[in-house]
This record gives sequence, C-alpha cells and structure tokens, in this order.
Amino acid sequence: MTSALALLGGPKSIDRPLELFQAMGEDEVEAAARVVRSGVLSAFIGAPGEFFLGGPEVRAFEAKAADYFGVKHAISVNSWTSGLICAIGAVGIAPGDEIITTPWTMSATAMAILHWNAIPVFADIDPVTFNIDPASVERCIGPKTKAIMAVDIFGQSADMVELRQIAERHNLALLSDTAQGPGAKVGNRFAGTVADIGGFSLNYHKHIHCGEGGVLVTDNDRLAERMQLLRNHAESVLKSDDPAEYVNMIGYNFRMGEIEAAIAALQLDKLKARVESRQRAARQLDEGLAGLEGLTTPQTTDGATHVYYVYGMKLDTEKLGVTREQLVAALQAEGVPGLFAGYQNLHLLPIFQHRIAYGPDHFPWSLASREIAYGPGTCPVAEELHTRSFMGLNLCMCEYPPEDVAAVITAFRKVWSGLGELRLR
Ligand SMILES: *Cc1c(COP(=O)(O)O)cnc(C)c1O
Repeated sequence: MTSALALLGGPKSIDRPLELFQAMGEDEVEAAARVVRSGVLSAFIGAPGEFFLGGPEVRAFEAKAADYFGVKHAISVNSWTSGLICAIGAVGIAPGDEIITTPWTMSATAMAILHWNAIPVFADIDPVTFNIDPASVERCIGPKTKAIMAVDIFGQSADMVELRQIAERHNLALLSDTAQGPGAKVGNRFAGTVADIGGFSLNYHKHIHCGEGGVLVTDNDRLAERMQLLRNHAESVLKSDDPAEYVNMIGYNFRMGEIEAAIAALQLDKLKARVESRQRAARQLDEGLAGLEGLTTPQTTDGATHVYYVYGMKLDTEKLGVTREQLVAALQAEGVPGLFAGYQNLHLLPIFQHRIAYGPDHFPWSLASREIAYGPGTCPVAEELHTRSFMGLNLCMCEYPPEDVAAVITAFRKVWSGLGELRLR
C-alpha cells in the first residue's frame, strides 16, 4: 500500500534535505590564503614581456591542465564564455560568416558567435543523445559556413568522428564547447580535445570550479598564440609585417586571477573522483528507474563515456496519460531536488526572432547571403524535447551518496505507482 502523492496532500517521500554538493575543501582554502598573503592576485600585464602570459599560479594551472587533458596548450580564461569568444576569434571568423551549432545548449555558445558579427545557424539534435545531429549539420552548410561549434551536452561527447569528416569535406573549423563534460572520454582521448579548439567551464555550477573561470585546450600552436593574444589586449602586443596576422586581433581582458588559478589546479586533482561519483549515481538511477513505464533513462554511445552533468530523461506522456509538467510537479512535491522540464531552444529566443544584435539594422544578419531560419519547426527534435518530452535531473547539485540516490528512486517509484491519482485530477 503506497501513500497518497505529496502533490495531492500525502506525505513527502523525501522528508529531509539531501546533502548539497560541496566542491571546496581545506586545501582550496589554504591555496586561496597563500595567494592572498603573496599580495599578487594577478600578475598579467597587457604588454610584451615576462608577464604577458600571467603569473605563477596561472601558468602552473595551465601546465597542469595541458598535461591532464593530454594537449599541447591549455589557456586559462576568466569564464568559458570568454573562452568561446577566444576560440571563435582565433580561427579567423569574419563578419557575416556562418557557424553551425546546436540550439540545445546554454546561450553563451551562440552569443560567442554573434560577438564576432558572425551568424549562428542552428542544426537539430539527436533525439537519443541530445547532441548536435551530424546529418542536420550537413544540411545547414552554405557558401559562408566557416565552422561547426559542437557541444558535449550534459557531459557526453558529440559525434566527433562524423563531425570531423564533415568539417574536412567542407574545409570548416571544428570547435567544441565541453563546458559540461570535463573528464568525459571519446575514444582514448578527453572530450574537448579532439576538436581544433575545445575547453571547459570552471563556473560554480560545473563539475569542477573556481567560482568563475574556463580553460581552452588545443594542439595547434598558432591558434594557442592567437587565443593568448585575444585574452590579453592583442592589439598592444602584436607586431607583424603581415596584415593577415591582425585578423580579429581586437583584444579583451579575459585573464584569470591567481586565486582562481590556484583553486582550479586543486580542482583538477579532484575531477576523476568527482566524475566517478556522478557516474556511480547515474548507474544506480539507471538500475533503480529501469522498467518505469514511459520513462527513458540516458543512453550512452559506443566509445564515449558520460560524466552526467545532467541526467537527461525522456517521457512518453501519451503512454503515461499525464503531462510532463504534472509529473515534474509530483516529483518535486515528493522532494526530488534539481529536477527540470525542457532545456533550451536557442533558435526561438527573441534575439533570433527579431534578428536584432548590433544596432537596430539587423547586423550581422544584414550581411547574410541567404535567409537563415530561426522560426518554429527549424529544429523539430529539439523543439519536441523542450516542449513535451525532456526532463533533466541536475546531478551536480547534491552529493548523492547511495542512500540519497535510493531516496530519489523511491520518490520516482511512488509517483509512478500514483499515476492513476494524477490522471484523475
Ligand atoms: C556553463 C556553460 C557555458 C558558459 O560557461 P561560463 O564559464 O559560465 O561562462 C557555455 N556553454 C555551456 C554548454 C555551458 O554549460
């Protein structure tokens, strides 16, 4: 005999707050104190010379990250949004160029494209992995397409083998937003490192963090240098007789502070264990939620590991006879934390509907040689998932020891056994 659903006045299934995730330890406290005591909170100088590449903590973190991820260059930045802007600028995108990306991502992925006066073109996503669909990418290619920006959404690599082949066939740069997937593998490499440029967010909500921050990774010396320039006032440092070298070298201050770098270096040591604990929680959920009618748990792809920034589920609401919103409300009422309905449909944002970015005259779309579609129906898979069938569980919000995962599973099972009550409402 199960009790009434909490949504309908019954007792909550999870009647205690689950332990929230704490990313910081005493070692981070000591590292921050050490930097503060040194008095040097940033050593960057936006001019040629020894400190153009930052101070000791920044350089140590970058060396450690390059080694960890197995790349030639790791370049720290003050946010991953800044990192995306550096990556796009470095590959030489020109105003009016098009970059193909996914609408199922955080807005910064697409805004970084607009920041170079380039035009985001949204390909649809795969209904199983939620990653950008290579076949749709191919259909989006036009004469002005210059790059593909893949996103390893929720912590699982996009299909980089297919995307690389498309990029080579059409002479496109391949970039990767792996903000949510540090530690994920694709083949024997880390996700993010198989693109021309990739990288990770270090903001508070991600697997590892230093408050705000990001790190770019690449094996390409020239791209690395261009990103270092963009990060730190390129125009006041760059000296070349070749005009081509000045393309996009309008610099920013995207420099990471020394405290953040010291913390980020320690967080890197914790990445493997942290990701493994989320994979354990996901496996427990997979087993505990198996067999619930109309619920599909995350699907993994061959040759890639998933680090479960989000545990992404799909609902067959026709089979269930209730709406997703009813179900989410019922689960939340039982005390399941970090649950959300839908994710992102960036192409439908007002900025794209109005095509208003820089000034009132539709720049950069005014440079386009063709009509770029952003209306409803442009990305039917992403739209269906967003409006009807997708439900995500934020696995980075809580610690999730096995007993807490078990409590979440019990709450799900209670709601499923109470579906009849919900349907009657
Ligand atoms: C978090 C995130 C970003 C932005 O990272 P910040 O460090 O917050 O600037 C970009 N893309 C994706 C997919 C993200 O999840």
